[in-house]
Amino acid sequence: MVAMGEGTGADGGRTIDLHAHSAVSDGTESPAELVRSALAAGLDAVALTDHDTVAGWHEAMAAARGTSLTVVPGLEISTRHEGLSVHLLAYGIDPSPSTDLARRLVRVRDSRLTRAERMVERLGADYPITWSGVIEVAESHGVTAGSIGRPHIADALVAARVVPHRAAAFEGVLSGASPYYVRYEGIETATAIAAVHEAGGVAVAAHVLSEGRGRRRVQDSQVCELAELGMDGIEIDHREHTEAQRERLRHLAERLGLIRTGGSDYHGSGKPNRLGENLTAPDQFDALMRRVQAPK
Ligand code: AMP
Ligand code: FE
Ligand code: FE
Ligand code: ZN
Repeated sequence: MVAMGEGTGADGGRTIDLHAHSAVSDGTESPAELVRSALAAGLDAVALTDHDTVAGWHEAMAAARGTSLTVVPGLEISTRHEGLSVHLLAYGIDPSPSTDLARRLVRVRDSRLTRAERMVERLGADYPITWSGVIEVAESHGVTAGSIGRPHIADALVAARVVPHRAAAFEGVLSGASPYYVRYEGIETATAIAAVHEAGGVAVAAHVLSEGRGRRRVQDSQVCELAELGMDGIEIDHREHTEAQRERLRHLAERLGLIRTGGSDYHGSGKPNRLGENLTAPDQFDALMRRVQAPK
């Protein structure tokens, strides 16, 4: 399932970015374009981790065939632990639609869709955007069968000249504290970890200390709880973690026996994050991939 063994090999110098999005969710490049960008950035491996969907895997892997790039098949699952939002990166799962995880992800994507429609309804009362307009732009990027989110609503607000770019929309009308904001249903983190394992994959908590407006941070004690539930790793090197936070998380990870990862959280032109700006050490990547079970 997981393509391995390519890259620059045992010298330990492989550049591995375990967090990137395509336009199948809220990135702006198709999976094939993402592969080309990853090659241009000099990466040896990139994980495609679209939100709540594996719909981009096939295209990305086909595009990487015959090149020096390893595509690690992944996704970023929207979960909740004790009322907190936890983005759970999963790698190497069985992508078949019959797993418990796949069934739960269908519900998350459905909930994303209804939620986005309700947000656009609210926004449409005050701003010149429509649901059909949002869907049209999102589908033109390739989100069909993928996963829709606030960034697509942001694109419609940019097109309508309400805001200059996605980030401005997130600072205002799309923020969690905005009256236009509507929640969607994530999976309980404990349930998601179990479902990822059942599907043969590994689970890594993404950017636990990143802070949106009105968003509470995951506490160390909660990272411990997730580790006790069998979570495999934690994303430490991420743009939204300061150097001091990374240092602290590294100690926490060592104490809990968690694998330490890093990634860019690339979203194409949708965010300033550049491919390869944060990386996963080869030994940590190898440890993670050793835990991926062969499909049953
Ligand atoms: P949602 O999952 O629909 O609630 O939207 C959250 C997504 O919006 C995250 O996955 C981020 O990639 C994206 N996002 C959050 N803040 C910003 C920002 N300031 N600029 C661009 N994208 C953002
Ligand atoms: Fe995103
Ligand atoms: Fe995330
Ligand atoms: Zn992400």
